[in-house]
Amino acid sequence: MSPLILKFFFILSIFLNSIIRSYYEKQNKFKEIEKNNKTTLEKILLFLVFLGMFFIPVVYVFGGARLGFSYLDYVLPFYLQVLGIILVFPGVWFFYRSHKDLGKNWSVSLEIRKEHNLIDFGIYKYIRHPMYSSIWIWVISQALLLNNYIAGLSGVICFGILYFLRIEKEEKMMIEQFGDEYENYKKRTKRLIPFII
Ligand code: SAH
Repeated sequence: MSPLILKFFFILSIFLNSIIRSYYEKQNKFKEIEKNNKTTLEKILLFLVFLGMFFIPVVYVFGGARLGFSYLDYVLPFYLQVLGIILVFPGVWFFYRSHKDLGKNWSVSLEIRKEHNLIDFGIYKYIRHPMYSSIWIWVISQALLLNNYIAGLSGVICFGILYFLRIEKEEKMMIEQFGDEYENYKKRTKRLIPFII
């Protein structure tokens, strides 16, 4: 398939997810933070994710060939490229749903807000980390749409590092805050894929 079409769908997913994110960022601006676990490591990881999911792929899309990026391109079968396009839509949908259900409890980092509620309804009824599921879908589709070892894989690698270093800490923070309520919620749900993972 033409790389131009694939790049178009990747940019579409960044565009739609950025609209969703900036809308909820504005909504949450004035909800005070009660506990802040934003360590230096967290800040570094967030910067890494910005590089891998935004900066590097966008530079590749708009200047890849000129910057010599194409030396590291790979070839994928047509059906995997189509899968990359298809995945954009559930990715954006889950990203939207998780922001909507978390509402004012959402933070980009590990934080507890004033009057923080435990959300266990909507999409959170089925999995504890739907936003991370949506980002996994997003970075997998990035690798299928941008067929380049640097720009395609930077998302999976950078988000993967953040995910595996953060997930235990986030659940520990939620247990400290909500105690048995979160322990019971954990027993009823899986992390990323309903009934499976
Ligand atoms: N891990 C979740 C949320 C990511 S945003 C997901 O993937 O959907 C990270 C912030 O969301 C954390 O700092 C925590 O304060 C908050 N959070 C995570 N799970 C929550 C829940 N079930 N209810 C309320 N807030 C939650």
